[in-house]
Amino acid sequence: MLETTIAGSLPKPAWLAKPLTLWAPWQLEGDVLTQGKLDATVLAIKEQEDAGIDIVSDGEQARQHFVHGFLRGLDGIDFERKVVMGIRKDRYKAEVPTVTGPIRRRGPVHRAEAALARAHTTHKFKFTLPGPMTIVDTIADVHYGDKIKLAMAFAEALNVEALELEALGIDVVQFDEPAFNVYMDEVRDWGVVALERAAQGLRCKTVVHICYGYGIKANADWKQTLGAEWRQYELTFPVLARSRIGGVSLECANSRVPLDLIALLAGKDVLAGAIDVASDQVETPDRVAANIRAALKHVPADRLYPCTNCGMAPLARDVAMGKLKALAAGAAIVRRELS
Ligand code: ZN
Repeated sequence: MLETTIAGSLPKPAWLAKPLTLWAPWQLEGDVLTQGKLDATVLAIKEQEDAGIDIVSDGEQARQHFVHGFLRGLDGIDFERKVVMGIRKDRYKAEVPTVTGPIRRRGPVHRAEAALARAHTTHKFKFTLPGPMTIVDTIADVHYGDKIKLAMAFAEALNVEALELEALGIDVVQFDEPAFNVYMDEVRDWGVVALERAAQGLRCKTVVHICYGYGIKANADWKQTLGAEWRQYELTFPVLARSRIGGVSLECANSRVPLDLIALLAGKDVLAGAIDVASDQVETPDRVAANIRAALKHVPADRLYPCTNCGMAPLARDVAMGKLKALAAGAAIVRRELS
């Protein structure tokens, strides 16, 4: 009960990638980089175990970014043809590659780090993949000319990858869809259909992560425009509740999301963000416990998984570790109260 987990990414060691940076450039090259990614994956697993996290992740140590890591394994994308594009409804600019031909998966993308992590932990293991709508929002396209067709092409490639990860013994496949919080009409019209295609045939637990983004300035500024109550989830939760996805990971701690919206997810697992990733301040276990209790008013304990709000990639490593320990300690407090 109240098994803890993380949204996905952890900071990378400074010898692997530039610290405190999103889209951080690698510090290694060639075979040494390949080995470094795997070494950092084992380290990330062990650090989560030491912190007391129940459902561990690979920490996304082998990918530069949660979207483009997967895209590197696909044909049909020209990574040399970079375009600066406003993403998430122009909230911030990113340099993105371009789709120039049919999307096809060349072969396993994340097998190496997933298999290695699986071999190094007896904990439950969650693996994250980008969701189709968020990929479409993070890439330029001169081939398909149609967002829905492009999303379905990515969904098919994701599905093959997800089924292979499941076969490796992954317990939870999570699709990251921060774009779900930006394009509410499109989520209803085709976003969830594409997501379900990506998850088709999976028998392990499936989760979709939606959020208000990392703690970077563009997101912090955007949040200031959203008013006293962030009600975006009010539109997406009923659509997700009707979907075949098993759970939803959402931001709670230090946010203005009215937690009673969680009731709209009846029947789903809820991965409730009890750790703020937009602050360097490490939460006390009591603070985390209070966040978990607040979520428990709206979701039964056997469906609640205390989690981080979002990826921790841009944080300092010691801050991230402190937050993981606080998460585990906070959940332990609430478990004791319930037993
Ligand atoms: Zn997120």
